[in-house]
Amino acid sequence: MNVADDKTIVQEYFNSTGFDRWRRIYGDGEVNKVQLDIRNGHQRTVDTVIDWLKKDGNLPELSICDAGCGVGSLSIPLAADGAQVYASDISEKMVTEAKERALQTLGNSEKAIFTVQDLEALSGSYHTVICLDVLIHYPQAKADEMIAHLCSLAQSRIIMSFAPKTCALSILKKIGSFFPGPSKATRAYLHREADVVKILENNGFFVQRQAMTKTRFYYSRLLEATRK
Ligand code: SAH
Repeated sequence: MNVADDKTIVQEYFNSTGFDRWRRIYGDGEVNKVQLDIRNGHQRTVDTVIDWLKKDGNLPELSICDAGCGVGSLSIPLAADGAQVYASDISEKMVTEAKERALQTLGNSEKAIFTVQDLEALSGSYHTVICLDVLIHYPQAKADEMIAHLCSLAQSRIIMSFAPKTCALSILKKIGSFFPGPSKATRAYLHREADVVKILENNGFFVQRQAMTKTRFYYSRLLEATRK
């Protein structure tokens, strides 16, 4: 399967069954136990990023690109804290949902701007580029290019999270609940931390802060890297 196929499948998934599933997981309504576990795990990743950026004390000065923003789980709180956020996602449905949530939380604020866009087609220059839990949709061979592109958009910093390859067995379990039923065709890719770090370094970025979120069904390694 080539990456175009992968990407089309991912896009279609997040515009159909994946949208319904993830909108609920990334929401606050009732969900099953597995989904609740994933919701809580993901929220911890989001909270860690918010905590890091708040500690720096300069959010209102930052322009942030949130690549693969989903329903805005990170973009909206960052905008509420004063950052200028440019959020995008390949799924139109996710972006529509993100816009609705932003309207409810932020009103007609221009602090969070949402567009439908393949992250590899993004251009511009941002203080910080963030990409959470998107790499799982990229095979390692394509991760190189994808991370390099995100680095080219970042003036100072890149923050990304991915499912680490070391937890392979546990992840395999999770995949079953990630992509149930007919949408199982959507693959989940794990990445070795050493590979991701090397790509970042090849693009001039060096790891500063890191975190790991691990619940029963959710595994996510989070790295912040800055330009030397
Ligand atoms: N970053 C968000 C959403 C994670 S879910 C969060 O942490 O809350 C993964 C998202 O990545 C989905 O919304 C999916 O549509 C998006 N995505 C996958 N491949 C993409 C690509 N090539 N370009 C942009 N978005 C992509």
